Parts: sequence; structure tokens; C-alpha cells
Amino acid sequence: MPLFGIYGKHTTEACPWNNIETAKMLLKLVQTDFESHAKECTINKIIGQYHSALEHTFLWVVEAEDPHLIQEFCVATEVATINELKIVPLITFREGVVPGMKKIHSL
Ligand SMILES: [Zn+2]
Repeated sequence: MPLFGIYGKHTTEACPWNNIETAKMLLKLVQTDFESHAKECTINKIIGQYHSALEHTFLWVVEAEDPHLIQEFCVATEVATINELKIVPLITFREGVVPGMKKIHSL
């Protein structure tokens, strides 16, 4: 299953720690809507959600068939309304070393 990283960042003004409207929106999302949006957008698995609170950045790692589904998920959850986002295909270290390097160098 293809792995993708969702790299996000927001301004200090939009940060839910500083902005009550953003805080309310994210609380509702986490408490009621997050899993249903993931299911509707065919996000197969959310591997992890890692945040650097004071840098106002995050990395979510998800499994999905198509990055367009992740784009839909980010819009549906409104995560895209307060964050600048990058959706990046990922492989594991082992996948990069074994098939990747063998193929590139004909090893
Ligand atoms: Zn923040």
C-alpha cells in the first residue's frame, strides 16, 4: 500500500493554541469527524501524526492508493484551511536500500 507524508505548517496567528476559532474547529474534528472523513476519502490507514507545537509544523504518515484522496481528506477535514500542505510519496529505509539501490546500481 502506497505511503505518503502530509507535511503541514501554519502561522502562529492560525495556531489552535493562539486562535479560539481554529481550536474549536480542530476539537470538533478530533472528537467527532476525523475517522469518518478518513473512511469517506478512502484513507486506508493513518500510521502516525507527529507535531512540533512551537515550530507549528507537523508530519502525518498515511496509507492511500492515490495522493488525490489525501488532498480530498485534507479539504474535508479543513486541515487545508489553516495549514500550508505538501503531500509527498514515501518509502521505508529498507525499501530504498534493497530494491531501490539494487535497481539503480544493478547490484
Ligand atoms: Zn501551531
